[in-house]
Amino acid sequence: MKFIDDYLKDIKERGLYRELKFFTSPQSKYSSIDNKIVVIMSSNNYLDLCDDDRLKETAKKALYNYGVGSGGSRLTTGSYDLHHKLEKKVADFKGAEAAIIFNTGYMANIGTITAIADKEWTIFSDELNHASIIDGCKLSGAKVVIYKHCDMDDLKEKIKSHKGSKRLIVTDGVFSMDGNIAPLDKIVKLAKENDILTMVDDAHGTGVLGETGAGCVEHFNLKGQVDIQMGTFSKALASEGGFVVGSNGLIEYLRHKARSFIYSTALSPVTIAVSLRSLEIVKTEKDKRNKLIETSYWFQQELKKQGFNVLKSPTAIIPLIIGDAEKTVALSKKLFEDGIFITAIRPPTVAEGTSRLRITLMATHSREELKYVIVRLKTLGVEMGII
Ligand SMILES: *Cc1c(COP(=O)(O)O)cnc(C)c1O
Repeated sequence: MKFIDDYLKDIKERGLYRELKFFTSPQSKYSSIDNKIVVIMSSNNYLDLCDDDRLKETAKKALYNYGVGSGGSRLTTGSYDLHHKLEKKVADFKGAEAAIIFNTGYMANIGTITAIADKEWTIFSDELNHASIIDGCKLSGAKVVIYKHCDMDDLKEKIKSHKGSKRLIVTDGVFSMDGNIAPLDKIVKLAKENDILTMVDDAHGTGVLGETGAGCVEHFNLKGQVDIQMGTFSKALASEGGFVVGSNGLIEYLRHKARSFIYSTALSPVTIAVSLRSLEIVKTEKDKRNKLIETSYWFQQELKKQGFNVLKSPTAIIPLIIGDAEKTVALSKKLFEDGIFITAIRPPTVAEGTSRLRITLMATHSREELKYVIVRLKTLGVEMGII
């Protein structure tokens, strides 16, 4: 088909063609990719739990007790006592009345936003929100008002010029490509003053931010003040799935209205059992969380000292901006040859001209290991005229 050939040719010419890499071992700070051992510097497995023995034991037990598939959607034959327990536990963890599990974070966002908003609604959405929020907004048919990234003056202006009783502000808690944290305290204040609902996507804050790892709401001490909290089991929690927590009414409503919840087979009991155990583990991992962020600050400083353009980030996501897409890919490839895996992120995931290496750290990365990465980055950076 010509349009497909044309498209593929075009993205190849522009350095935007994407290739898959295949893990051939569990995911940890060292993993085997395409049968080559490399240090993983781009995983969302922040606490290095994907290959955790406790979680594997839990999975084994659940496998023997419950089998593999779930057998149906949640409202037919796919709900297990484990799903029920996990919903209770994640609601408690997040300090909310109730919770609903979705198969992925992506499905949680599109299902929730489309269940809440329709064409009578106005949604205020940060310009750097995750694609699943953008898609949910589009699918809902609501009027979508994009405000400048974390810019409260702009949001205030836009709220003023878009009045009405059906309004929602939606934001990432931690922005997935930049690593910065949304000013949730200010957003909640503005929302309250103007009688607007709030929704936060805490995919990257869950397990990482806050005293118990409950995420950005805990980080800002805003318990009970965000109407809709979405999160995932798929990042720091090293499992799979998404969830939404909120009031009993909200969750009951989503159970009846969120199409991505209703019309999809439930997650396997094994996955749910792992998420349950992971929530318990994560609560107790305060030292790991602290180390993760301390290491991130140190690493950012070291990269800056070498002359790299690093966006300041209070989390483990460190964007090293290169700009040009092809150069970014070339650098990522050379690093891989050196045994370092850092993904190149290009448009349309990020804005044109801001292609980057999206470095993410795990709590288990040592400074010694990272020093090696800096040495290689420095050499390649000089060679390629980046620094
Ligand atoms: C990863 C991510 C999602 C999607 O979660 P999945 O479980 O991977 O589908 C949603 N929002 C943000 C901000 C994310 O980073």
